[in-house]
Amino acid sequence: MSPDPRRTIPSTDRLLALDQVAAASKRLAPQMIRRIITTVQESARAGDIAPTEVTEQVIAAVEQASPTRLSSVLNATGVIIHTNLGRAPLSDAARDALITAAGYVDLELDLRDGKRSKRGTWAKAALLAAAPDAEDALVVNNGAAALSLATTALSVRADRPEVVISRGELVEIGAGFRLPDLITSTGVQLREVGATNRTNLDDYRDAITERTGGILKVHPSNYWIGGFNSDVETKQLAELAREHDVPLIVDVGSGLFERDPALPNEPTIGEALRAGADVVIASGDKLLGGPQAGLLLGTREVISGLATHPLARAFRADKFTLAALEATLNAPSTPVRDALHIDPDELHRRSVRIAEAVGAEVVAHDGRVGGGGGAGVPLPGWAISLDEALAKPLRTGSPAILPRVTDGRCLLDLRCVPVEADAVILQRLQELLEEDA
Ligand SMILES: *Cc1c(COP(=O)(O)O)cnc(C)c1O
Repeated sequence: MSPDPRRTIPSTDRLLALDQVAAASKRLAPQMIRRIITTVQESARAGDIAPTEVTEQVIAAVEQASPTRLSSVLNATGVIIHTNLGRAPLSDAARDALITAAGYVDLELDLRDGKRSKRGTWAKAALLAAAPDAEDALVVNNGAAALSLATTALSVRADRPEVVISRGELVEIGAGFRLPDLITSTGVQLREVGATNRTNLDDYRDAITERTGGILKVHPSNYWIGGFNSDVETKQLAELAREHDVPLIVDVGSGLFERDPALPNEPTIGEALRAGADVVIASGDKLLGGPQAGLLLGTREVISGLATHPLARAFRADKFTLAALEATLNAPSTPVRDALHIDPDELHRRSVRIAEAVGAEVVAHDGRVGGGGGAGVPLPGWAISLDEALAKPLRTGSPAILPRVTDGRCLLDLRCVPVEADAVILQRLQELLEEDA
């Protein structure tokens, strides 16, 4: 009888003692190394690999393993704020700030006198410099938290539980999350007014009672209504709100401070404040191009009321957010802004350079702002058009390159690809096309 070959699978202790595995323990936790070893041993036990291959495979696996499996992706979709890719990529300044924030930092300490200071002082100063019409500002975890905090603090806490909102603004912000559900989850009651396509000032006026805690205007960032429609301007709502002594909350969504000529219809934080909003809400990681954050800008009175609400502690931004947000605001530009304003001729030249080297074609292709902002606005540009079969190897290779697949083609739009990565894309394409040939 021949011995069971499975009995020759190297033991865990023998594998742990290998030089390469011992070296990996400087980078990887012991349980992660053991998990890798067990997985390889099990595939030998199952007969998927030979026992003689185990040592070699364990070495290869520990050498490739990394403490995080999150991979960087070259975004060749042409979609600037890609929710599945983590929304806004950060500027170099914001990336540096994250590294600094990773250690001990003077987050709540004044180094001059050694006393405790206010958290987020510098991020707030940068926000107020960007929005001089605001008296005060507060940063929380994300836009949804900002909206929940503002509506809850102004209505439920003030014993005026109703918030008036137009039926045209009861939007779903993505992945099954709806603003009305979010707002009412803390006990706020929505007083819906108007019709989906039309709401006028009298609709709002008729709805205001002693129970009204505030008027809420939400910019429907991800859809738009055409045809027979109307809504009420922030300025008119602000006058109405003042008449009845209720606060006006405006959620602009995307985080533009002032109008951007590339997105002529995207409302801004500055305009909402000048029109008389008491508090304006926006996200940090959409068109502002910063980290995930919820920004609240407005009057001293309203912001200080929000800052002292218990939910403000639950929604508190961490040191990474505050550092990256401040750096985003103080740096000259952001990758989001650069991608939005990229010169189509430059995009064409870059695309042609790659396409010609691999015998592909360049086609006209519209980029998009994507998640939360500039709904439906095409951003004219170009893409390299390839065989659809290349999409998967591009996506699963290293580095991962995410193309847009449409109409049976694999399109590479370089709008959101840093120019220094063009060479990486070209090399990867050459490798794949060679393998093919
Ligand atoms: C995106 C968006 C939100 C949600 O903000 P998050 O930062 O994603 O939590 C809320 N309101 C509007 C109008 C938005 O566009």
